[in-house]
Amino acid sequence: MKCDICGSGSGSGSGSGTLIMGQGFACSEDCQQIANGRRKAFIDELKAEPINTMPEQLETHDFERWSLKFAVHFLDGLSDGDRKRLARSNPIFLSPEHLALDFKERIISHLHKAYVSDVEHRGHDRMFSSGTYCFRQPVPAEKIIEACRKAQLIN
Ligand SMILES: [Zn+2]
Repeated sequence: MKCDICGSGSGSGSGSGTLIMGQGFACSEDCQQIANGRRKAFIDELKAEPINTMPEQLETHDFERWSLKFAVHFLDGLSDGDRKRLARSNPIFLSPEHLALDFKERIISHLHKAYVSDVEHRGHDRMFSSGTYCFRQPVPAEKIIEACRKAQLIN
């Protein structure tokens, strides 16, 4: 497997690589440290941004970024009690990337079909676990907000 950090190929023979959320495959301990650092820096960057800023029209990558920001802010705003409850019931959602997947599914299910490619018809697997959805056309921000309301993610 090609390392997403240093770009070295699979021929190194170490075989001890690992996947870092949102950063891809890291081949060595050094690359893992770099990948973890980048992940943390990106999450800190999202945390520092106001949640209600988003482009007027969202392309797929804008929506990816915004939904992750939404998850980061959501987790940041949890009370200690809520966090403990989540850790008991759904510990995987303490990871913003996993929580963002759930948010995306719920939001997209409330978006008009004209906006989203119909990969959802491929089966009962979680629609977006492989990141295969995409927007057919940019989605106006108010449509995203409306979908969030319908999904009861915001009031
Ligand atoms: Zn590497």
